[in-house]
Amino acid sequence: YVKKHGRSHYRFYREEMSHTFQNVVLMEAHLRRAIEFNEMSIHLQPQIDFETNEIDSFEALIRWNNPKFGFVPPSQFIPIAESSGLIIQIGDWVLEQVCKYQQQWREKGYRPVRIAVNISLKQFKQEGFAEKIKQILNKYDVNPKFIELEITESSMENAEETQAILRSLKELGVYVSVDDFGTGYSSLSYLKKYPIDIIKIDQSFIADLNKDEKNEAIVKAIIALSENLGMDVIAEGVEEKSQELFLKQHRCKKGQGYLYNKPLPVQDIIEQYLVK
Ligand code: C2E
Ligand code: MG
Ligand code: MG
Ligand code: MG
Repeated sequence: YVKKHGRSHYRFYREEMSHTFQNVVLMEAHLRRAIEFNEMSIHLQPQIDFETNEIDSFEALIRWNNPKFGFVPPSQFIPIAESSGLIIQIGDWVLEQVCKYQQQWREKGYRPVRIAVNISLKQFKQEGFAEKIKQILNKYDVNPKFIELEITESSMENAEETQAILRSLKELGVYVSVDDFGTGYSSLSYLKKYPIDIIKIDQSFIADLNKDEKNEAIVKAIIALSENLGMDVIAEGVEEKSQELFLKQHRCKKGQGYLYNKPLPVQDIIEQYLVK
């Protein structure tokens, strides 16, 4: 007893730990049934083309509303989905939903738009990933050029394996982008080796534009780099007109951020953005 008391600090620490741990275990259990229980949905965020000032593509961002936990942000549940392996099932679901929208929209006669889907490392490296994409595209009869796969720099690390996967994705005809570019601490040499179509400048560099000259230098360099490599470039997290001005002045191709719109439910996207 006495001994236990004397270790109250230690005990407190342990309780904190186990509380967090239990929460993660519980959240994982709920996550496991989330699709089946209809708790997942997809929001779409518009991307604007700076040349035409038109919205011609969207990014799909998953949303989870659970009765016990409420709205859980992806930053909280995606890591749990990754460590538990559930990301495969969840990722398949997102891809399938996006292809379903594409099919429905085409049948209704809307002008086609590209939709970008976030792909986590585990998904990307799963056996037969490209084949799976192909099957989903076929199932919904979607033209691959209207699907973009967003991959982070961490997926680019294992050279040989990555090259093979990216090649088979390119053969399918889907677009491939590097998400959160500039935050991955990885070597730039992969850019010349891999068939990458689009660079997405991480929002952290955009946030302090016009306030921090170093960020301006980095953003200019990324735009120049992508131009020289023949890739498209989009800025994430554009919130202010001044940021847009800077990006346009330096010939950034596209932008995405709250300045244009936040990620919206699919019905809102149809009403606000799709044209026949
Ligand atoms: P991301 O792919 O880099 O997505 C951009 C994030 O920035 C989104 O957060 C979006 O809502 C937010 N955002 C957009 N515009 C602005 C802006 O102007 N200012 C600020 N401050 N933020 C902005 P969200 O939806 O919470 O997603 C967070 C991350 O979760 C995503 O980052 C992505 O890595 C991951 N994620 C989301 N959906 C999926 C998915 O379906 N599969 C996988 N594997 N990951 C996903
Ligand atoms: Mg993304
Ligand atoms: Mg990301
Ligand atoms: Mg990003």
